Amino acid sequence: MRTKSSTKPPKGNQNPHLQARLAYLYKAATYLSTHQPSQSSQPSVSSPALPRHLASQLRAVSLKSQLRLAQPIKRSLCNRCNTLLQDGSASVHMENESRSGVKPWADVLVIQCAMCEAVKRFPVGSKRQGKKGARESAKMEPVESTGDKAKVRGSELRMDRNRTT
Ligand SMILES: [Zn+2]
Repeated sequence: MRTKSSTKPPKGNQNPHLQARLAYLYKAATYLSTHQPSQSSQPSVSSPALPRHLASQLRAVSLKSQLRLAQPIKRSLCNRCNTLLQDGSASVHMENESRSGVKPWADVLVIQCAMCEAVKRFPVGSKRQGKKGARESAKMEPVESTGDKAKVRGSELRMDRNRTT
């Protein structure tokens, strides 16, 4: 039976065994997807079933334990069929759907799974919008809280001033 502890667990690595399990599953899946078993007795030599099974386990463990997968790990798994998206199993290209592709912030990295043709899209040219709390505090105190952005804006203004003078 699980009892509620009165003190909060220390932040950081709260579930080392689950973290270790996630790391192991990912390692095993990547290893098996690149190194096929050499035993000729097995009928499915180039079968991606085992790495996919491990990847689905990986996803299930992270969902159940509410542990987020690291971004590169999450991005390397197909959402539909759990194939590891690597060189041979995915096609990667850039896409820009702005008119005649002139807007650099409309660049989108497209990764297509070769097994199920599911597509992952990641905007790369645009700056990611901050979280709501950060945005609202930025609205309240535009100079102090935005930090780098304010600096950038300031330098741009300075450049403009240089140009006009
Ligand atoms: Zn897929």
